[in-house]
Amino acid sequence: MSMNPRFQAIVQIESRHPRKFEQPRNERGQSLRVSEYFGSNTLSPEAMKEKLPREVYQKLIVSIETGKKLERESANAIAQVVQDWALEKGVTHFCHWFQPQTGLTAEKHDAFLTFDDHGHAIDKFSGSQLIQSEPDASSFPSGGMRTTFEARGYTAWDPSSPIFIIESTNGKTLCIPSVFISYHGDALDEKTPLLRSMEVLSKNAIELLNAMGDKNAKRVVPTVGPEQEYFLVDRLLYKLRPDLIMTGRTLFGGQPPRGQQLEDHYFGSIPSRVLSFMQELEFELYRLGVPAKTRHNEVAPSQFEMAPIFEEANVAADHNQIVMEVMRRVATRHNFTLLLHEKPFAGINGSGKHCNWSMAVVGDGVEDSNLLEPGKTPHQNIRFLMMLAAVLKGVHRHAALMRAAIAMPGNDHRLGANEAPPAIISAFLGQQLTEICDKLESGVNFEKDPEEAVIRLGVSKIPSISKDNTDRNRTSPFAFTGNKFEFRAVGSSMPISFPVTVVNAAVAEAMGELAEALKQRIKSGKKADSAVLELVRETLVETKKVRFEGNNYAEEWVKEAARRELPNLRKAPEAIEALVSAPAMKLFSGLGILSEAEVRSRHHVMIERYVKMLSIEVEMLGSMIDTYVIPPAVREQQELASSIRALQEVDKSASVTEQVKRLKDISGRINSLISKRQALAALMSRIAGFSDESEKARLLSSEGVTLMQDVRSDADRLEELVSDEYWPLPKYREMLFIS
Ligand code: ADP
Ligand code: MG
Repeated sequence: MSMNPRFQAIVQIESRHPRKFEQPRNERGQSLRVSEYFGSNTLSPEAMKEKLPREVYQKLIVSIETGKKLERESANAIAQVVQDWALEKGVTHFCHWFQPQTGLTAEKHDAFLTFDDHGHAIDKFSGSQLIQSEPDASSFPSGGMRTTFEARGYTAWDPSSPIFIIESTNGKTLCIPSVFISYHGDALDEKTPLLRSMEVLSKNAIELLNAMGDKNAKRVVPTVGPEQEYFLVDRLLYKLRPDLIMTGRTLFGGQPPRGQQLEDHYFGSIPSRVLSFMQELEFELYRLGVPAKTRHNEVAPSQFEMAPIFEEANVAADHNQIVMEVMRRVATRHNFTLLLHEKPFAGINGSGKHCNWSMAVVGDGVEDSNLLEPGKTPHQNIRFLMMLAAVLKGVHRHAALMRAAIAMPGNDHRLGANEAPPAIISAFLGQQLTEICDKLESGVNFEKDPEEAVIRLGVSKIPSISKDNTDRNRTSPFAFTGNKFEFRAVGSSMPISFPVTVVNAAVAEAMGELAEALKQRIKSGKKADSAVLELVRETLVETKKVRFEGNNYAEEWVKEAARRELPNLRKAPEAIEALVSAPAMKLFSGLGILSEAEVRSRHHVMIERYVKMLSIEVEMLGSMIDTYVIPPAVREQQELASSIRALQEVDKSASVTEQVKRLKDISGRINSLISKRQALAALMSRIAGFSDESEKARLLSSEGVTLMQDVRSDADRLEELVSDEYWPLPKYREMLFIS
């Protein structure tokens, strides 16, 4: 009989060594400093500056800042620079790299190769190839945005994000970050709404700043730093788990006796194979201009995190997609498989992606560019309070939409499971800031001397204290952490574009309204600073119920939130409905971020994806019960039964009660599994009978999820009862502790 594949895998893993990679070196053989090769595989607008004629560069910048289309001549000049750079680097192909609504990125490669008039092979890359491409849109989700006779979609260069080169084993490809739109200009991707939201955010922020007397601001950009959590599992063990391969998570698996209770993993010393993975990952990311900053062990065994330095939201969004892809690729080189799923292992902490978010103002003579940085001067503090009010106003009005933006099957396992913020969206400000808000609300007199009042409020003490404060609330979905908010409920596998779009939009809308109100009050004779503080006070009162400083995991909070009438959308399908609610529609179409049709299509895509993902899980579970769980259990049953019979033959007086009990436990579980497996099949045929996707989603999220949990309890018990030798699926203790 051949050895159990699990055991074979473990033997092979035993002989693994940390992988070495070729570090870049100078002529003298010394390894290069990171600063010497950072961004070497990217071509940013700044890098193009010296190579482009001045006027072309100016046009490029205008195009970046205003979205104005480049005319052919400039495009050709830029394409020439891009081509020269790429050919020198040994690139043969280019592609428009974009983010359809699949959660992944897409690319269609074209060779530079073409033929001149004399039939000679040449390398050529034109302005129009740089600016636009036409992939067949019919194979990407469009949520009904596209009828089949108009299958065309366009990708268009987004010059605000640097062009980069992806190196693979046998060649290099130039990637041109792009947006993806339909023939009629409807957004089919994640990037377009993000860019639109950034534009309105800038416009409304400047309006607000102007109204407050700040005239220097030229542009305001949301800044984002997404902390990426992930698991690493040895590749061989992964390959033996069809559920991980098909669904990204284990559909069953008994709890290991040791999980994370020893609390010895978080920030612990990084295992050597993993560290060498991280080092190669960082090397790859640096060349791509991704500012990876911190690396550490996370809470669960085999769980880790990478956090970059924050960047402008659109670049951060692209970079996070690059991070996820490069991580996956580099992990394979190190004989690991990267798991980005929100909950790969039941009973073990899942993974999230804390999105740190703030706004930076760009302009001549603008100091202290972070608008959420309370600061050195009373004036800056007044500005800070206003921005804070705007954020709270946005979160208060659009909490349900924020929940919708992070809705997906994986996240349902995390939210509210006492390891991640609950599905109730609230904002945490911390003790000092709360005290300041309370004082403001209860009426510090700022009519006479607003600046003096601000000093008395003590806002200026916030930054120094919050930097390393200990009362930081880990349970809040949207927490202020000193000079930024941290949107913590985002899932680890999700593109950040949409969640960030929603935050941008909600805050932009609030800033627009506050700017209007402020202008009115100043017009009617109020002093600017007093009017600002008055508005801040009113906003704090109006949005008070969305502030929560307590433990978000506590059962009391669920009740308290219900009293406050905060939405608690537990499951993804109900959350996704918030996308098409009246306030959301008004937000998106009012600000020109998504038309009603675009919102509906997005809603459709999200629901459809939910149904597909859950259906795959149900199918996979059923088939694994049939082929992976029942067979070894039957074998165990058979052996135990014949052993009992043999024993009785040898010794009629032998007591077999306990053994029969054990046999009954096994056979009972087998029977139960067979009938539940039939229930799974019945559920799927019922679902096939529905035509409405939302209805399918609701059934899957209720009955489907419950049934899957039921099946799991039998299967997990059998894993405990069946001989280790017969059990073909790698166990939790192996996947999580062997590397
Ligand atoms: P902490 O959360 O402990 O304060 P850091 O200051 O290291 O940790 O920041 C965590 C993440 O927040 C990093 O990705 C960082 O780049 C990001 N971040 C810091 N400042 C900002 C900002 N102004 N806007 C957006 N993200 C930020
Ligand atoms: Mg973290």
